[in-house]
Amino acid sequence: MVFNDKRKRIFIKHKMCRFCADPGLKIDYKEPKTLSVFITERGKIIPRRISGNCAKHQRVLALAIKRARKIALLPFTTAKIKMKEHREF
Ligand SMILES: [Zn+2]
Repeated sequence: MVFNDKRKRIFIKHKMCRFCADPGLKIDYKEPKTLSVFITERGKIIPRRISGNCAKHQRVLALAIKRARKIALLPFTTAKIKMKEHREF
């Protein structure tokens, strides 16, 4: 990476696909702990340019996250939960 001298050094994460780097790390929709690293707090999938995953693993990861959502291991979104007003009477 090239740094602008006038700017302060920005911490840049070394972009390396975690799944390529560690072959023991599996992408499994049944393991939300692994998948949750790659979603935002609102439940969105972090894009490849930020997470640093390779295309192959990002595809598998996205599929795994979508599967995990379907079986409610991961949220679709946590943006705003609309509360319906309950009528008490
Ligand atoms: Zn990879």
